Amino acid sequence: MLKITWDDKICIHSGNCVKSLPSVFQVKDGKFVIIPDGAPEDQVRKTVNACPSGALKIQG
Ligand code: SF4
Repeated sequence: MLKITWDDKICIHSGNCVKSLPSVFQVKDGKFVIIPDGAPEDQVRKTVNACPSGALKIQG
């Protein structure tokens, strides 16, 4: 399973990740949560790479 990190100080809250892959990137009770195995790995990588601010990163 991919390990994804999110830096809240870098995130510009564009919402791209939540819109493009809602099974992985979600806002629950006002908090941003990431479910790394919520979609196939290539889709997760694609969405992480499309983050406009660089707040999302895949570790390892
Ligand atoms: S795509 Fe990146 S900048 Fe946009 S909300 Fe998600 S983490 Fe934040």
